[in-house]
Amino acid sequence: MKILISDAFDPGLPDKLKRFGEVTDDKSQLADCEVVLVRSKTKCTREYLDSAPKLKLIIRGGVGLDNIDRPCAAEKGIKVFNTAAASSIAVAELAFALMIALPNHIVKGHESMVRGEWIKKQLKRTELYKKTLGVFGCGRIGTEIALRAKAFGMKVIGYDPFLNSHDTIEIINDLDTMLPMCDYISLNTPLTDETAGMINKDVIAKMKDGVYIVNTGRGKVVVEEDIAEALKSGKIAGYGNDVWYSDPPESTPLTSAPNTILTPHIGASTKENLLRIGDIIEELIGKYVDGNLD
Ligand code: NAD
Repeated sequence: MKILISDAFDPGLPDKLKRFGEVTDDKSQLADCEVVLVRSKTKCTREYLDSAPKLKLIIRGGVGLDNIDRPCAAEKGIKVFNTAAASSIAVAELAFALMIALPNHIVKGHESMVRGEWIKKQLKRTELYKKTLGVFGCGRIGTEIALRAKAFGMKVIGYDPFLNSHDTIEIINDLDTMLPMCDYISLNTPLTDETAGMINKDVIAKMKDGVYIVNTGRGKVVVEEDIAEALKSGKIAGYGNDVWYSDPPESTPLTSAPNTILTPHIGASTKENLLRIGDIIEELIGKYVDGNLD
């Protein structure tokens, strides 16, 4: 059996997988491979799957499966798995880092010091304590963010049409009620037909003036132009963003908008997470080899 490691994983992974067969990172060998390991970079389109006649299993290291044509994979009898549970802590810690860095002006303060400027009077901070965080998508990552927010003394409310209640988050599935309550918003939904463009100018208009938004979910959940306009007007006080329309973005109004902190899709990229992903992949391939992968 040949296994193709198509994207960036823990450097120790090839050694771990050797016992199952030949492991390669040479993408030109796709046609000979039975198992392909991808993260978000490789796009498993119909054309990609057509060029992999021996492919039986795709494992996506991470959560989002929007880079894989799953109906086409199902048609061809190719199983698709992710390592969903592995990444929650890594993404939640980045979301929280952005949520702390924005109102504390960490990046602005640092940049001013490097420029030799003393802008103490301009940098007025605000606290997370007693503020309200609204979580869009109260799944694994949303829950880890909520737990961290509670430790900071925040009230946490959530929007998730697939949930009526939640252990940590007060679910308010009515945007007209929820949006004006939020001092902070964290976007943690998958990209679906319903969530694409969900955060647009009409929805932003219902938010509290001076809201902070952090997006570690998916870039296309927001209309970037509308976010940039709201940053310019001050309606949104700050926007922390890890996810893009494409990786890397071809062009985006966010890089010229004020009060942003932008990161290059590094939510899942902790050393610990890559090790956890490797362990899950090893387990999944072991089950596949034993015929126990359902
Ligand atoms: P999850 O499936 O545990 O949670 C997603 C939640 O979103 C679910 O509770 C679901 O009911 C909810 N949801 C679905 N449609 C919704 C809608 N229209 N409105 C509101 N909520 C909706 O997934 P997770 O592990 O928490 O991951 C969430 C997302 O985070 C992934 O789909 C992926 O896009 C993103 N992600 C980003 C990174 C990164 O590097 N920044 C890494 C991993 C995951």
